[in-house]
Amino acid sequence: MTTATEAQTASVRGGGAAPLLAVKDLAVSYGNISAVRGISFDVFPGEIVTLIGSNGAGKSTTLRTVSGLLKPRRGSVTFNGKDLKGIPGHDVVKLGICQSPEGRRIFQRMSVSENLDLGAYARTDSPEQIAADRENVLELFPRLRERLSQKAGTMSGGEQQMLAVARALLGNPKLLLLDEPSMGLAPVLVDLIFETIAKIRDQGVTVLLVEQNALAALEVADYAYVLEHGELGLEGKASDLIDDDSVTRAYLGG
Ligand code: ATP
Repeated sequence: MTTATEAQTASVRGGGAAPLLAVKDLAVSYGNISAVRGISFDVFPGEIVTLIGSNGAGKSTTLRTVSGLLKPRRGSVTFNGKDLKGIPGHDVVKLGICQSPEGRRIFQRMSVSENLDLGAYARTDSPEQIAADRENVLELFPRLRERLSQKAGTMSGGEQQMLAVARALLGNPKLLLLDEPSMGLAPVLVDLIFETIAKIRDQGVTVLLVEQNALAALEVADYAYVLEHGELGLEGKASDLIDDDSVTRAYLGG
């Protein structure tokens, strides 16, 4: 049964569309350590959804399970109507989920240009389309265009973060997973990266964003879930959670 509030939320969020990503009762463990304990959430097409929470809450674990890198102990992940159970990470990419991982994990010894090429490795559409997407990504991140031949490992932290997001975008995702894109960045670059995430959403890419920088995440996101010790607590429109006292106290330094 759906409550009136749930029905209202669904209509506001999805506009009647089915969720692009539906996570149901997801539980993930590392050996005896239970990192995610039965969480359910949705991401509707065209949204930026953020999962916020403190260190060790289970945010990265959730993303890595959605992208097929970890196997859930229980529960389901459904993408575009398809159950992802048993589908390995490289096939999840082909379905349209691309992740920009925490800590960047770009190929340090390769050039920026080669890293971008690798982002498109799983695509089967035309070289012209890939070239057009590459051009679009270089417009989103002009700094990368200036550095195409530079070894990725010699770029600044902020530039490497941009490259990680750009590389994930070149996979032509329907759903872009971003793990802590602001980590280690100076405030001016945090602003730039979040402005770019909003542009990416405006270009039609749905985004699931994991962040410890709750304020920046809530400012850019449409909808937010708070994860604590592997369980979901509050959820709501991001603009409402910014004003919520308990969120302000716990995550916004209020
Ligand atoms: P952070 O913001 O600090 O990255 P997080 O919310 O992303 O935190 P996770 O990285 O998902 O949290 O970690 C959730 C829990 O799982 C933590 O207790 C962590 O110590 C544990 N954990 C994560 N990765 C592993 C692993 N490879 N082996 C064992 N335990 C792990």
